[in-house]
Amino acid sequence: MTEAPRDNVELMCDISDLVAHFDLEAGVDELLQRIVATVARHTQADVCAVYLYESALNELVLRAAHGMNPAWVGQLRFRIDEGLIGASLRQMRAICVGKPGDHKPHPPIPGLTAKSHPSLLAVPIQRKMNPAGVVVVQDSRPEYFTSRDVQAMRIIAAQLAGAIENAHLMMRLRGAPENGSGWVPEVLYPVDTTFETGTHQIPGRRASGFMGMGLSTRMGHYLSQNPAKYLCPLDLTEEDFDKAIAETERQLRELQARLEEKLQDAASMIFDAHILILRDDAFSGEIRRNIRSGKNPWTAVLDEVRRYVEMFRNSPNPTLREKVFDVEDLGHRLLYNLAPPSFEITQPDYTGQIVIAEDLLPSEILKLASEQVAGLILLSGGQHSHVAILANALQIPLVMASDRRLLDLPEHTPILLDGKDGRIIIRPGEETIQAMRESRRALAGSDHAAEADSSETRTRDGISIRLAANLNLLHELDTARRVKAEGIGLYRTEFPFIVRSLLPTEEEQYQSYSEILERIEGRPVVFRTLDIGADKALSYFPMCHGNNPLLGLRALRFTLRNPEIFKQQLRAILRAAHGHPEARIMFPMVASLDEFMGAKQITLECAAELEREGIPHRLPALGTMIELPSAVLIADELAAAADFLSIGSNDLIQYMLAVDRTNDEVAAWFSPHHPAILRSLNRVVRAAEQAGKPVSLCGNLATHARMLPFLLGIGLRSFSLDPLQIPAVRRHIANIDLPRATALASRLLELGQTEEISEALDAFATSG
Ligand code: PEP
Ligand code: MG
Repeated sequence: MTEAPRDNVELMCDISDLVAHFDLEAGVDELLQRIVATVARHTQADVCAVYLYESALNELVLRAAHGMNPAWVGQLRFRIDEGLIGASLRQMRAICVGKPGDHKPHPPIPGLTAKSHPSLLAVPIQRKMNPAGVVVVQDSRPEYFTSRDVQAMRIIAAQLAGAIENAHLMMRLRGAPENGSGWVPEVLYPVDTTFETGTHQIPGRRASGFMGMGLSTRMGHYLSQNPAKYLCPLDLTEEDFDKAIAETERQLRELQARLEEKLQDAASMIFDAHILILRDDAFSGEIRRNIRSGKNPWTAVLDEVRRYVEMFRNSPNPTLREKVFDVEDLGHRLLYNLAPPSFEITQPDYTGQIVIAEDLLPSEILKLASEQVAGLILLSGGQHSHVAILANALQIPLVMASDRRLLDLPEHTPILLDGKDGRIIIRPGEETIQAMRESRRALAGSDHAAEADSSETRTRDGISIRLAANLNLLHELDTARRVKAEGIGLYRTEFPFIVRSLLPTEEEQYQSYSEILERIEGRPVVFRTLDIGADKALSYFPMCHGNNPLLGLRALRFTLRNPEIFKQQLRAILRAAHGHPEARIMFPMVASLDEFMGAKQITLECAAELEREGIPHRLPALGTMIELPSAVLIADELAAAADFLSIGSNDLIQYMLAVDRTNDEVAAWFSPHHPAILRSLNRVVRAAEQAGKPVSLCGNLATHARMLPFLLGIGLRSFSLDPLQIPAVRRHIANIDLPRATALASRLLELGQTEEISEALDAFATSG
């Protein structure tokens, strides 16, 4: 290829200029037309064209052209499996050809054949992974386009994708007719026609075992949704804005109070981030300044909210990115309060809806729970992630799915969410709905029956097994008591920290820990110290996320690095433990004996401090979690040093097998029955036995019916699990004969292949 002396930098600047000065009134087609003319002028190519993709027909349609018959615009179409232009979109890559004898098929465009225009450069326009169209230049001179043209055209295609999307959003926001100027709305959001009507079943992964039904709504897109509702009222004043601010703050405080009633420990201060932004001069002050300089208050609010959203969304700081939702929520509330009552716009309200989101923060789940959401579909996150744990705790049906077409589902589509089998049913038929209702009734019935059982858990041959509850939020204490859990084997103390906007004080923690000890009435409670980090970041505390947060500053590493936070919590537990010999402390993610001893030392210092200050306290038993491969290998030493051990199987599997527990893509590798996991579990139980220390298991593994015989077979007699699962696990254990389970465990420990172990477990389960 010859390097033609074209100034591609100038071309790119001109395109940027066109994009930046996009004229909404003129429409998108006009923008595209100007772009093709500019590209043709700079490249001096005979032809420049933009084809946009229509997913419903799987076709490319000509939307702007220079050097072609203008009558073809909007008319010329071809399927994406035809010719080089379609191939560029299908393969999502730039295609550049230039030889006259090149036999690659050109698209079927009259008058533009491989012979007449041998040089062709086609570059796909894509938004994220969505195909949006192709920008094409063609020329009669052979070998006309250079590698620099390819590069420049790629940049132009990327700018075009952004510009088209923005134009689309702006037109929606202003209620402009999207079809009027030949604009095809589904271009950037290809919707599979199969979802537009009829019933569809989408496979997902069960993340919380509940079922729900409601109308779909996409979360976090208030400002781009329902354009017709966002018409700007013209007669607003600065006074209206002040009233809207006051009303918004009042509503937020009321919402917070309601939430606190429901979720005492977790809720407080959830809406503080909103209130902080609302009061911030950089936000409301800027809006007021714009109003004073003549901007309509409604537009001033909308512009500022969108500026914040963009700023947060593009921030390299993940904690700031997480604030997008808060700002959108706040923006919507403000606009609602600013608009006259006749203005038809609804408050963000998820009551009874099935919310579809790319991802969610723990605090967002809490807000949704407070609004009695009917269910959640998440496009990211694993079944073992903490968001899933929280959804379970709040009894919200949650299914994880990877089918991104769900994000394009029309608003208010009826959905049935089967969290039990991990299915999403779009527009379910009457029979399916009926079947779900029956299944829900049956489940509730069997749970009631099980709850009425004695609190004793025994194997078939009468050996007593201890089932305690995992606690994430205080309101689960009721469930724990109802299912007759034998205490709390794991209190994830970090959840109340995560969902707030400020660190809770020592006093607040003391109150909440005391309440747990009071309400559990003498049964053991294991307070696990903060397991912050990875998928449990504090939005208000600067944390170094690094490229790999799961291997970063998490759990005990975090607290040892931040002794002030650690000490506040330890002091609160020590104080609450006064008069409560059943309280225990456990350290998470212990990787070495040194770390355990370090944590113990700090606990002793706290006890000494409280002693000096004359504050009543008690030093509880100190345990360690075993959830890292390193901890398994030094289990003997840890068992000797600690008062008790607890196996965290969720993290143990994650770190032992290098499988991110929050990544559904690799869920198939999250194998509890891998020989390395079986042998690790056995090793830990033997170490505890040797040291004469109690050992239990508090990960999700305790709820796997298939794995229970092995766990009992290696000698585990104590488990801590989601309280809602206790009745079912109790029933499973009652069917297990311990001598048979012990024999099974010995056999499995000899096997080297995961598949063999899986088969042996299945055979055991079916042999009765
Ligand atoms: C575990 O890792 O198994 C565990 C119980 O802790 P968490 O799920 O909170 O990480
Ligand atoms: Mg863990």
